[in-house]
Amino acid sequence: MQQIKDQQLVKNFSYINGSWHSSASNIEVTNPATGEIIAKVSNAGIEETQLAVQAAKNAFKAWSAKSANERAKLMRNWFDLMMAHQDDLGRILTLEQGKPLAEAKGEIAYGAAFLEWFSEEAKRVYGDTIPAPSQDKRIVVIKQPIGVVAAITPWNFPNAMIARKAAAALAAGCTFVVRPATQTPLSALAMAELAERAGIPAGVFNVVVGDDARGIGEVLTQHPDIAKFTFTGSTAVGKSLISQCATTVKKVSMELGGNAPFIVFDDADIDAAVAGAMVSKYRNAGQTCVCTNRIFVQSGVLAKFTEKFVTAVKALQVGNGVDEGVTIGPMISASAVADVAKLVDDSIAAGAKVVLGGKQGQGENFYQPTILTDVTNTMPIAFNEIFGPVSPIIAFDNEDEVLAMANATEFGLAAYFYARDIGRIWRVAEGLEYGMVGINEGLISNAAAPFGGVKQSGNGREGSKYGLDDYLEIKYLCMGGLDK
Ligand code: NAP
Repeated sequence: MQQIKDQQLVKNFSYINGSWHSSASNIEVTNPATGEIIAKVSNAGIEETQLAVQAAKNAFKAWSAKSANERAKLMRNWFDLMMAHQDDLGRILTLEQGKPLAEAKGEIAYGAAFLEWFSEEAKRVYGDTIPAPSQDKRIVVIKQPIGVVAAITPWNFPNAMIARKAAAALAAGCTFVVRPATQTPLSALAMAELAERAGIPAGVFNVVVGDDARGIGEVLTQHPDIAKFTFTGSTAVGKSLISQCATTVKKVSMELGGNAPFIVFDDADIDAAVAGAMVSKYRNAGQTCVCTNRIFVQSGVLAKFTEKFVTAVKALQVGNGVDEGVTIGPMISASAVADVAKLVDDSIAAGAKVVLGGKQGQGENFYQPTILTDVTNTMPIAFNEIFGPVSPIIAFDNEDEVLAMANATEFGLAAYFYARDIGRIWRVAEGLEYGMVGINEGLISNAAAPFGGVKQSGNGREGSKYGLDDYLEIKYLCMGGLDK
């Protein structure tokens, strides 16, 4: 952590009600590239979580009463500070999460973009007037912040998954309590330090770091003072958190797992398809929810695509994300490597062929960038989220066949396809049962676009003009007795 220029960004305590809280025990934060312990962070629990909820409740009245312009100004300060410290924030992120520095700095810009976007959207929370059924009435709709928001976020985007939620919540006038993933608390705490410097009032943005996921999760999903719960993580955990939220009927939004198909049709620009597959598959070592999970290639271009794709994947530089030239880092943990190795080994046993990689890499947290061919859509690798740097290639013959295979999953987050025929583009785009579709494009996330899934990939949308809806309540005002 000595590499960080502004050492005040390296925090070891939860941030509650505008102050830093120490606890009796510590969590060790490890660099996944080296196994080195890079920080010890106070391990908060249920009591601290309750304090944070109380602080957010107390802060709500004044924060929600601020004008949209006042909130926007403070959020804009926060955005400016994130961008001014992009290098330090990126380094902290790489050290605790593993992704290459350039990608980590990209995540900081991506996360900060939500603060900028929603600081502007805060001013556009429009209401409505509706023609009334009788002359003596008027119907008016206003939108109001929902209240205290609680969030639980994963380790794969330690900055952006928090920023994407907090920016919309704060812009709407809500206050916020987040519990970041145990493996990556430092990015969240650095964000809190900058929120404070930006002038975000005490209690509006709180970060509780603690390894009691279940206990803290129970408070955040069941506390009566929390109006909305938002989660990014696996579908399995998301399902149980939804049921916990039922006890107090919270508004819920879920960004869960994916199983993205990436389809290459015969008429595709193959070089563009290879470039798209590279970014959608190998970014963050394959550990993103929108990562390509299954590559479907039409028989006429199978050999050509596979050859070019193998060449591109071979050129990846695996290593420690802080080192110059590294384009793919470690996975988050040895157990994540073991899960990926099992999916690959099971596929080989079922008839898949390894054309590249297929083994653990240079350290216990590394797995070689891998390509498998002769995969079928019924192998476990095709219906599980791989969450690692492995590309299974599945051949297909026609459009109907590939659409049926692409949709044969309980997930529905992102899908990608490459084609040129305009009729096919519309048919396939409309036929894919996914919340987001990249058409001749492998990188689809940005603050202006609505991010989210269908089926068991979740509900609600983050970013875009739709992103505020999850943090607002609609109130209908009926004015009567207007006759003379
Ligand atoms: P995970 O196991 O579900 O963990 C996510 C978060 O939930 C972590 O903070 C974790 O805490 C916490 N958690 C785990 N069990 C809990 C419980 N019983 N109660 C309360 N909190 C609990 O997911 P992951 O493996 O870390 O993350 C990868 C998953 O996230 C993938 O499925 C990926 O697709 C999904 N994801 C989705 C999106 C999206 O926008 N749709 C974006 C990114 C990731 P600990 O850190 O202490 O375990």
